[in-house]
Amino acid sequence: MDNDLLKSDKSGYQTKIDNIFIGGDAKRNAATAIIAISDGRRTAEEIIEKAKLNLDIPREINDKKVSKRDLIIKKAKRVAAPEIHETNPNDRQNFKLVSKTLDQETIVEEASRCLYCDELCNICTTVCPNFANYSYDIDPVRYELQKIEFDGKGSYKLEDDFVFEVKQTHQILNIANFCNECGNCNTFCPTNSAPYKEKPKVHITIDSFDNAPVGFYLEK
Ligand code: SF4
Ligand code: SF4
Repeated sequence: MDNDLLKSDKSGYQTKIDNIFIGGDAKRNAATAIIAISDGRRTAEEIIEKAKLNLDIPREINDKKVSKRDLIIKKAKRVAAPEIHETNPNDRQNFKLVSKTLDQETIVEEASRCLYCDELCNICTTVCPNFANYSYDIDPVRYELQKIEFDGKGSYKLEDDFVFEVKQTHQILNIANFCNECGNCNTFCPTNSAPYKEKPKVHITIDSFDNAPVGFYLEK
């Protein structure tokens, strides 16, 4: 069969063969299990819409509205997962479901354990033995920067340069005086960042600032 027939539109899941749908790795090459699960749900929605089934399906809700304070409190608490009922190990040489399907209440309970780490991570502030990483908030900003070019003959020209943009509210800085560059925050960072190298290094004494190759120092 021609593989092209199994391609779908970017926005949809139906292939060029009527009533054959595609998703997950088969649609987009290797990706994550989460994306495959999401494709499965969206494909089901597309099939339901195509079949004109009038089902009352709850739609995606993306309305977190959680304050920073709530996020920090959430991270400070360990909430155990709901107990999952599984079939007896001696009763598995068959096609029975190993894990029982969760009821709606349990699903909500499980989902509410989410720590919203896409909103606020701050792991590097908690794993540093020296409290050298500090979390602060800013308003997102966007500056269209310009530069002045000197032509060497006494004239200057103003030109567009690059756009400097800070999109996230929650930010991290590193207090250089406290950091001994042990690398622990790099080990624990879920995005493999090295905050002690990549975040702004702030010196709280002028001596530290004068003896460092990079960094910032503020004085009144
Ligand atoms: S490298 Fe610096 S900021 Fe990171 S954990 Fe070590 S002391 Fe803390
Ligand atoms: S630098 Fe890494 S550990 Fe720190 S807040 Fe960002 S993602 Fe989290």
